[in-house]
Amino acid sequence: MTSHLDRLDNDRIRGFLAAQKSDGPVLVVDSEIVRGNYAKFARALPDTRVFYAVKANPAPEILALLAELGSCFDCASVAEIDMALATGVSPDRISFGNTIKKERDVAAAHARGVRLFAVDCREEVEKIERAAPGARVFCRILADGAGAEWPLSRKFGCVPEMAADVLDHAQARGLVAYGVSFHVGSQQNNVAAWDSALASAAQIFRDCAERGIALSMVNLGGGFPTRYLKDIPAVDAYGASIFESLKAHFGNRIPETIIEPGRGMVGDAGVIEAEVVLVSKKSDDADEIRWVYLDIGKFGGLAETMDEAIRYPIRTAHDGEATTPCVLAGPTCDSADVMYEKTPYPLPISLSIGDKVLIEACGAYTTTYAAVAFNGFLPLASHVI
Ligand SMILES: *Cc1c(COP(=O)(O)O)cnc(C)c1O
Repeated sequence: MTSHLDRLDNDRIRGFLAAQKSDGPVLVVDSEIVRGNYAKFARALPDTRVFYAVKANPAPEILALLAELGSCFDCASVAEIDMALATGVSPDRISFGNTIKKERDVAAAHARGVRLFAVDCREEVEKIERAAPGARVFCRILADGAGAEWPLSRKFGCVPEMAADVLDHAQARGLVAYGVSFHVGSQQNNVAAWDSALASAAQIFRDCAERGIALSMVNLGGGFPTRYLKDIPAVDAYGASIFESLKAHFGNRIPETIIEPGRGMVGDAGVIEAEVVLVSKKSDDADEIRWVYLDIGKFGGLAETMDEAIRYPIRTAHDGEATTPCVLAGPTCDSADVMYEKTPYPLPISLSIGDKVLIEACGAYTTTYAAVAFNGFLPLASHVI
């Protein structure tokens, strides 16, 4: 009989899942894929330092591997800074990249040796001045998220026209006005999406130079995609496009650059094994759509199915047999816990209660979004192999 595991290309994850019996959904991440992804970024953008976005997957084994490979870390909280420091990296390999920080958290980061902070307004600059005197700050600017499947809102960043003032404010307060950052939106499918933000960044460099402030760094953020159901451009294509834009806007004075990949570093490295809890219909009408309920849903790790933004590849033992579109839902007693309904998901008609399924490309933004025991369901179990 065919097993769902026969559908897996990844021998290591298949072997691990075959050997372990889990009662609930489980994420297995292949560290060798993470290692390969790091190498691809290093090759595609050879002069750019990598600051892995810890929030994508902070499993200690992943952080340790990336530390060993030479990665730096983009952290959004003191807890994430401590996870990064636990790998043994020195604090100069950590950036506190959240623009919204409690002043006492800035102080705690400073006490741990962190000297690089994101800001997007004068008020945040003043917190850094008080709690991390002399630190380097970079100003985040708004970037339009066109082309991204998980766009970031206007929550972070100021308009580019304001950035020189924010950086001037920092320099005048004894901080080091270090550079500019932006994020082009997560799961960004357009390799040219960095261009207009880089044009803005170059203008901010010129505006600051006129005020006697020499900026050093452009933080290109994350946005590099993972392959879900659709093909994506290779990392090399992103690297080439970004390099062209840097040359076009900065000429022969290309600044120091960093990237903060999250999804692109770990997304394709993880697979979730889950179980079909129920297959049912809402009426006996022959045309009625089937509902497939898994033991994982929006609160158990698949939060990025919100608004049906991310569509994960799902493998079953019955792949290749006839399918019908299904509503796919999670196990909790919350009506928001439905993954795909507006665009139903084609699943084999023979899929039945108790079958295991594999949800692929789940290495990023799954464990970190899993609720802690909402409705009594445990947070997503995770193994890095
Ligand atoms: C989340 C985040 C990232 C990672 O984004 P991806 O699209 O997953 O690569 C990078 N930088 C910052 C500041 C972030 O908040």
